[in-house]
Amino acid sequence: MISKLFSLFRPQPILSTIHRDQHSISRKQVSPNALKVLYRLKNSGYESYLVGGCVRDLLLGLNPKDFDIATNATPEQVRGLFNNSRLIGRRFKLVHVTFGREIIEVATFRAGHEETADDKNKSSTNDQGMLLRDNVYGTLEDDAVRRDFTVNALYYGVQDFSIKAYGPGLKDLKSRTLRIIGEPEVRYREDPVRMLRAARFAAKLDFQIEAKTKAPIKDIYPLLFNIPPARMFDEVLKLFLSGRAVATFDQLRTLGLFEPLFPATAQLLNEQIEADVDREFIDRFLHQALLNTDDRIERGRPVTPAFLFAAFLWPVVDHKAKQLVESGTPVIPAFHQAAQQTISEQCRHTAIPKRFSSQMREIWDLQHRLPRRTPKRALYLLEHPRFRAAYDFLLLRESAGENMDGLGQWWTDFQEAKPGDRESMVKELGPGGKKRSQRKPRKRYRNYNKKPQRATE
Ligand code: ATP
Ligand code: MG
Repeated sequence: MISKLFSLFRPQPILSTIHRDQHSISRKQVSPNALKVLYRLKNSGYESYLVGGCVRDLLLGLNPKDFDIATNATPEQVRGLFNNSRLIGRRFKLVHVTFGREIIEVATFRAGHEETADDKNKSSTNDQGMLLRDNVYGTLEDDAVRRDFTVNALYYGVQDFSIKAYGPGLKDLKSRTLRIIGEPEVRYREDPVRMLRAARFAAKLDFQIEAKTKAPIKDIYPLLFNIPPARMFDEVLKLFLSGRAVATFDQLRTLGLFEPLFPATAQLLNEQIEADVDREFIDRFLHQALLNTDDRIERGRPVTPAFLFAAFLWPVVDHKAKQLVESGTPVIPAFHQAAQQTISEQCRHTAIPKRFSSQMREIWDLQHRLPRRTPKRALYLLEHPRFRAAYDFLLLRESAGENMDGLGQWWTDFQEAKPGDRESMVKELGPGGKKRSQRKPRKRYRNYNKKPQRATE
């Protein structure tokens, strides 16, 4: 009786254990490289577990995107065990162990920051409660509490092949609930990117976001404006290039999280703001772009961030260019100016690497060149390194309802036609059909270094 009473007051363990015969994960489902890392850590006397998304996804019957490991070895100790590894990160130090193209990420158990608040090398926060350093190490239990969502605080160890789960992690997995660990607002303030992660997981896993987890987002989403643009760029790729872009976009819009990612586009979509735009078209256009992206990923075809960003920002460029034209700037310069402005404003939020922004410009630029089909130009455009992307972009505009006078179909036929037929296709457009120059061609100088010689000289 007394021992029963005692057990009532004994604090509940933070982690519950599910023995190997009570769960469905087997070693065969785990990447052999991840197993190598787990065993080497274990044989060197450290604790080591698969953690997070890989355990969650295996339990849900999905294919994990990557295998992450948590251990009580420090990053330096892990680094010492693997030649093929390197230390990364400052805010959050960890080790990447590389096997060809596969990277196994090994993180040391994190702990709370209370006792080390003075040691700025390990832990520091800004005025808004955002963690600038998160390098305080602890036990497995400490680590579980520092994870973001209950369904991500699941551990699978090779000591006894059991699963350790934080709080209601397994129950939440069964009821498809996304629940943040701890006080939601505090956890979002520590790292506002957790708000984006909530949207991403809800869309990817088709989970409901639990009410308290959702509640603070509508008020504190502007904290995302403080995240370094390079990290935001990476987050955009994770959000939209993992095969569930449409669902993610809708989830972000519902939560009010699209604005910190693409503020100018969000402004055009905002019904409360007077703007001379066709919102329905923009909405259709973006959905269609994301549908195509998901479809390509499903069929194993390549997707490029350049196309994705070109699509998200096209309504902005188009709108800005129209405004410039109305105020007297000629069409092409207006368009270039709009493109330039749009990209540089967007880079303050998501730093777009140069190689992608220059491809975006080319895709946009070609939208103005594809209608002008003189024989020489049409063949030249076909060889343009960005032709395929620009053509896909054109089809996208048409499928969203833009009337382009059959231009997409023309380019489809042109690509499929034999060389002789191509010539007649262009001729058929006639002198006025977009738009052969009537001017006499100017003479070109063969020798560019020489000045032209006049007959009289
Ligand atoms: P996926 O790899 O499918 O995108 P994941 O859950 O594995 O999902 P990762 O970004 O790979 O996500 O992170 C691995 C684990 O690290 C997460 O499951 C979570 O436990 C933890 N984690 C990652 N980012 C954060 C964060 N910002 N705050 C707290 N915990 C985090
Ligand atoms: Mg992962």
